[in-house]
Amino acid sequence: MEQAVPVEQAGETRGEGTRAVRAGLPAPVKHEPTLPGPVFAAHYHLPGEPTGAYTYGRDENPTWTHLERALGELEAPGEDGIEALVFASGMAAISAVLFSQLRAGDAVVLPDDGYQALPLVREQLTSFGIEVRTAPTGGDGQLEVLDGARLLWIESPSNPGLDVCDIRRLTEAAHAGGALVAVDNTLATPLGQRPLALGADFAVASGTKQLTGHGDVLLGYVVCRDAALAASVRRWRKIVGAVQGPMESWLAHRSLATVELRAERQNANALALAEALRDRPEISALRYPGLPGDPSYPVAARQMRRFGCVVSFTLPSKAYAERFLTSLHLVEEATSFGGVRSTAERRGRWGGDAVPEGFVRFSAGAENTDDLVGDVLRALDTARETAA
Ligand SMILES: *Cc1c(COP(=O)(O)O)cnc(C)c1O
Repeated sequence: MEQAVPVEQAGETRGEGTRAVRAGLPAPVKHEPTLPGPVFAAHYHLPGEPTGAYTYGRDENPTWTHLERALGELEAPGEDGIEALVFASGMAAISAVLFSQLRAGDAVVLPDDGYQALPLVREQLTSFGIEVRTAPTGGDGQLEVLDGARLLWIESPSNPGLDVCDIRRLTEAAHAGGALVAVDNTLATPLGQRPLALGADFAVASGTKQLTGHGDVLLGYVVCRDAALAASVRRWRKIVGAVQGPMESWLAHRSLATVELRAERQNANALALAEALRDRPEISALRYPGLPGDPSYPVAARQMRRFGCVVSFTLPSKAYAERFLTSLHLVEEATSFGGVRSTAERRGRWGGDAVPEGFVRFSAGAENTDDLVGDVLRALDTARETAA
């Protein structure tokens, strides 16, 4: 494998757009493409002793290697010794950290308002004899239940409630008690927040959302500094085999080049939308961590550099929210978030999240701001008129 060219050497700082377009690229080779295409290989030529990086396709793949370098550069720019591991999905990455680090008899602290699959993970951990404690993200509620825990799992901003906790404060308390800390960085993306710089041991995320941003690839990753921790997560990936296909890895890497451009537009759209919705009488519980006055704003403004593309709010009823969603022209009704095309959904349709029936999670896409805000306000008018 060609030596990678880091986007920045120690001590240098580049702009985030510059970093995004160059992250993970190998040194140029005459007549080779800038980003080498996907390497499709279950096995590699391997005569003699089975040494070196590329032996079997479940262990390593050169297309992963490029993507992993890119993710390491985004999560910890300019740092040496960063290890990144890609997975088939965000849940594969989350499970890899939890199940590789925890043993029977350990205690783990999870958020009680996090991603909707965490309750399933909780059941599984409990069945393996691991004590699971939960507490709210907002107000740094997890501080209260840290005592004697082996691992603290943070999700900030939380999905779908958009609460934020003070990652540095929680991490310091967890480390003082001997616990490891993992932060789910899905919603913020590494452009919005860098968990390792805030003290966490693991930055973990679903790259399925804004990081890759086109709604066509599932991706998960784990980034950490400690080689022993990385080795234990790598071992888990090998055991479970939750590996990404090379085509998806390549598509994900290609998508990273535009993440700064997309985040700029999408996050600006989210803020514009939040501002436009603030004064609408039919809207309650409007949340956007980047909106001054939001309960998350004071902490978010200190620890985040971008606030994401997700806005949430509550309409008066299930029927009202459904009328709103079906009246949108530029926004597709779909789950997930972070894509270049705006999506929205009534979260209550899934069960599981503790949200009112009229609760809408809205993911701002990369449409022109006036078009998007105009469409949303028009759909709200339609929903109100048909109520009468
Ligand atoms: C979507 C999501 C996940 C799971 O990611 P997948 O790629 O769907 O497996 C985990 N955490 C958060 C915060 C998410 O939004």
